Amino acid sequence: MKRARPGKVTVLAGGVGAARLLRGLAAVVPARDLTVVVNTGDDDVFHGLHVSPDIDTILYTLAGLSDPGRGWGLRGDTFHAIDALARYGRETWFRLGDRDLATHLYRTTERAAGRRLSTITEAQTRALGVGVRILPMSDDPVRTVIETARGRLSFQEYLVRERARPSVRAIRYHGVRKARPAPGVLPAIRNARVLIVAPSNPFVSIAPILGVPGVRDALRRAAAPVIAVSPLIGGRPVKGPADRMMRSLGMRPDPVHLAGLYSDLLDGLVLDDTDARFLPALEARRIRAATTNTLMKTPARSTAVAQEVLHLAHAVATAPAS
Ligand code: GDP
Ligand code: CA
Repeated sequence: MKRARPGKVTVLAGGVGAARLLRGLAAVVPARDLTVVVNTGDDDVFHGLHVSPDIDTILYTLAGLSDPGRGWGLRGDTFHAIDALARYGRETWFRLGDRDLATHLYRTTERAAGRRLSTITEAQTRALGVGVRILPMSDDPVRTVIETARGRLSFQEYLVRERARPSVRAIRYHGVRKARPAPGVLPAIRNARVLIVAPSNPFVSIAPILGVPGVRDALRRAAAPVIAVSPLIGGRPVKGPADRMMRSLGMRPDPVHLAGLYSDLLDGLVLDDTDARFLPALEARRIRAATTNTLMKTPARSTAVAQEVLHLAHAVATAPAS
């Protein structure tokens, strides 16, 4: 079936879930029409290197270079350098691949030379042959911090070192109030024909982006429909601690509570077939919903979910006002 071009599409994105959806969108939307606004709250410095995990996951996936098994890093990469550092007694729980190091070295030295993260990311996108525009949410530093029963942890300490085991009391986004949206972010939201919230962790991937002053407001006011894809399947995330975070913060991990986190800006939600029983509750909250198999293990599933999102956006945009 031939489909009309949807026009400009802008996606709010974390890491793996977003990358899987973007792989599908890139198959059905011309690259020049696709913009991704990426979370940088996970960014951190390891061994003096500036690492932007979510940007890298999206960049490597769209470049066809990602490791499908791990979900992060480069396919076929080796870990000699990080293991050699361990012999000097350095902590190496955050794994950095040998070829992956080039990305962080480039980013770090360019930043030291005064370049902005958005400029650096654009150069890296071009160098890896990716046509999709990848924008960090901000060029200013924002750091997600997790207050746990075992004290305050940086996001990577919580997720990678502690494997998301400590119970979460609060999540903070240091620097977010003073952060400015990176150049291009607000226009990409204002000028989009379709706005998509990727199936990413709502607290540590999407919330930091929405917290950058001006972003949430731009989404609320945007003419385009805002469609989210649920990262939860049958009450469980495909990976990561989204369900535990929701429970710790007093919410049931289901699509209705997920939608509640975006209720001021959401028009539609794509959820998994296994969660179809939530459709009436979503419709009652004036959220158009559609179900499909949202597990994007293969490129074909990514494309199918992307098509479902565009289809729902079209349905919302052409529905008579109620
Ligand atoms: P990451 O930890 O940096 O990869 O950040 P994300 O927030 O983007 O990734 C974790 C989220 O992606 C989890 O909540 C997962 O449920 C979601 N996710 C990963 N793969 C898939 C998938 O194939 N389908 C759906 N619906 N969600 C996914
Ligand atoms: Ca992430």
